[in-house]
Amino acid sequence: MDNTYDIVIIGGGLIGTSLAVALRDLPYRVAVVDAYPFGAEKQPAYDDRALALSYSSSQIFRGMGVWEQVLTGLTPINTIHISDKGHFGATRLHAEQEKVPALGYLVESRVLGAHLHEAMAASSPDYITPAKVVAVDADDKGVELQLEGGDNIPKTLSCKLLVAADGANSTIRQLMGVEASRHDYEQSAVIANVTPEKTHQNIAYERFTTKGPIALLPMTKNRCSLVWTFPKEDVARGMALDDGAFLQELQEAFGYRLGRFLKVGKRTGFPLALVKSQSILAQNTVFIGNAAQSLHPVAGQGLNLGLRDVAQLVELLTKKEHTLGSVDQLNTYQDARQADREAVMHYTNTLISVFCNDSFLLGHARASGLMLFDRIAPLRRLLSRQGMGARFSHTRLARGLPPL
Ligand SMILES: Cc1cc2nc3c(=O)[nH]c(=O)nc-3n(C[C@H](O)[C@H](O)[C@H](O)COP(=O)(O)OP(=O)(O)OC[C@H]3O[C@@H](n4cnc5c(N)ncnc54)[C@H](O)[C@@H]3O)c2cc1C
Repeated sequence: MDNTYDIVIIGGGLIGTSLAVALRDLPYRVAVVDAYPFGAEKQPAYDDRALALSYSSSQIFRGMGVWEQVLTGLTPINTIHISDKGHFGATRLHAEQEKVPALGYLVESRVLGAHLHEAMAASSPDYITPAKVVAVDADDKGVELQLEGGDNIPKTLSCKLLVAADGANSTIRQLMGVEASRHDYEQSAVIANVTPEKTHQNIAYERFTTKGPIALLPMTKNRCSLVWTFPKEDVARGMALDDGAFLQELQEAFGYRLGRFLKVGKRTGFPLALVKSQSILAQNTVFIGNAAQSLHPVAGQGLNLGLRDVAQLVELLTKKEHTLGSVDQLNTYQDARQADREAVMHYTNTLISVFCNDSFLLGHARASGLMLFDRIAPLRRLLSRQGMGARFSHTRLARGLPPL
């Protein structure tokens, strides 16, 4: 086996796999390395979470040529309804006002992961798994990697460009000595699917309560995906409640907009932190997706932002003016991604500090803010365009076009 590649992607999660698929028509020899094969319980692309895809992510999948497959199992979001428990005021964002078919789409992580893995298998980069990277040696000529894994796994690989898509606790970051800052929100998200009495009518609800925000997102079979963010000290209690008591607490916090909650599926808890890589570059290496920034899920932006990392990187890799993995190429990538990353991190942090705060005054301020948003079209449009990722959709993929 020839172990020399142009590009090696570490991490076959949703972002690493998306990059491999997006690169399929470009003239590079590509390998994807993952510690766990797709389908293994520990592989995050295979877990239970439901993800809200922005309209710009749908365009990226269209540009990658996988939208028709990804569409199976998606639920469109036509309206986003944002409210604050105990205060008047709600804001509604509508797809028609934005002149788009949907404000976003809901998809189960394992369903999206399966579509992407199928497309990756058809585009045949070398998929090396189960294999962990244990050492990295990089200079301006390229990167040498040492792997540990099963019998058929090569011990070493080399490449000109290394892409770290290995998640929030990136091993590549640690091996290359890149620092990361970690802000613990002292909160955990409990996720589960719930079935309400009334039909969800493709409305996504975001409700802010003193216990933490509740997102209820429309899914197939009239289920809603619940992401309920609890203070850290409450999460064990929330997880330990029996289904009936859990639904009753949810009912109390959310109210009766969807009628009674009838059923809840398996609950999973995720501790929440913002992990931000101090740099998204290292020698001949770029960090993308959660390896670059891992966000609080309240605004549903992590995957969407990571897909725009993919779109930008692919755009650059189609241009002939840079040598693969060169300082120039990597700096151009970094400059192009900075504004989007900063804006999304700022937006997510603002949502958390304003809405996950039970101060009386802030409560009134945000309630009037919501009413204002509901009445002032340009402000509302800004909020929905932020959620859709439209402000940073200049790449070919993000405009729904193939990379070449
Ligand atoms: C509860 C919750 C809800 C969310 N909801 C949304 C949402 O609605 N919308 C949205 O846009 N985002 C959402 N997100 C965020 C989104 O899930 C992530 O941003 C996205 O899945 C990150 O994908 P990734 O491929 O970058 O990283 P990961 O999914 O972490 O994948 C990393 C991969 O690298 C592999 N790996 C790790 N270390 C090594 C190693 N040493 N060697 C080889 N392989 C390795 C792992 O096995 C894994 O396959 C949510 C997150 C949570 C927790």
